[in-house]
Amino acid sequence: MHLVVIGGSDAGISTALRARELDPSAEVTVVVADAYPNFSICGIPMLIGQEVGHWTDLAHRTRADLEATGMRLELDTLATRVDAAAQELWVRPADGVERAIGYDELVVGTGAVPLRPPIEVFDGPGALGPQDGVHLLLRVFDLVVGRTGLRQHEAIAAGRGWCPVTTQSSPDDHKVYYPGATPIYPGATPIEMRVTGDRDTGRLLGAQLVGRLGAEVAKRVDTFALVLLHGMRVAEMDELDLSYTPPLGSLWDAVQVAAQAWVREHELPAVRRGLVRA
Ligand SMILES: Cc1cc2nc3c(=O)[nH]c(=O)nc-3n(C[C@H](O)[C@H](O)[C@H](O)COP(=O)(O)OP(=O)(O)OC[C@H]3O[C@@H](n4cnc5c(N)ncnc54)[C@H](O)[C@@H]3O)c2cc1C
Repeated sequence: MHLVVIGGSDAGISTALRARELDPSAEVTVVVADAYPNFSICGIPMLIGQEVGHWTDLAHRTRADLEATGMRLELDTLATRVDAAAQELWVRPADGVERAIGYDELVVGTGAVPLRPPIEVFDGPGALGPQDGVHLLLRVFDLVVGRTGLRQHEAIAAGRGWCPVTTQSSPDDHKVYYPGATPIYPGATPIEMRVTGDRDTGRLLGAQLVGRLGAEVAKRVDTFALVLLHGMRVAEMDELDLSYTPPLGSLWDAVQVAAQAWVREHELPAVRRGLVRA
């Protein structure tokens, strides 16, 4: 079996590695337009921020590491055409002489193009650019942004018969409550959260979070991701026995406070009217 993969980044290399792992007899060829297979693109901000010493440190694996797994790398080679009937991928290597590579299975991992904001002056012919002194920058300072599942408009567009409704809240990342007293714990910061669920079934459909770097946004978006995977209801997030210690989390974790806000707004009124089960 000859597997040909186009693309030498996260998708392409992980496919090639897994194929060799599952079937060490598989012939695997990876065609890469550039000379940098298996580099951590996600590490570029840290390189710019000088937290990574040298750009070569962004390589997850060297070319030799990859070839040692038994895959063949065709670097500086552009895939130009697929002849599906002949099961051939046409490529243009650095010498410019096009040739075909036969395949049994072909995987395309060529990445995606970033979306430009749909604002006329920034897109299309005559768009303003650096030559006009206009630069498109996204600077997030020390914020961490995470999302999982669908946003409300995406859930509606999915056409799955859901009735998506959303609640926004700003629970603190950690806080201690003493009855009758002001909540205390130094250094607590709010996490902006938007929770979207299906009004009819109460199932979680998605969540988006924005918080400070130390606010453990990643662990919280991962909690929502697990709830999604298991098709749980937003209200069921109350049952999760999440870790608690004052410097890191509240008795009710921020994700549960956000879920409770959703339930209060969208489910509790119906529960009170006896329309859905609690
Ligand atoms: C600055 C930055 C920071 C990021 N940070 C994060 C993060 O923190 N967390 C996160 O989850 N994601 C992050 N991402 C996104 C993440 O890097 C991408 O989701 C991921 O790289 C996608 O992998 P991919 O293999 O699908 O495609 P890509 O990484 O885009 O790779 C495409 C591959 O295809 C090759 N290729 C393309 N066309 C051809 C062709 N015609 N012939 C041959 N080869 C071709 C390219 O050479 C390349 O090897 C970040 C992205 C950027 C740019």
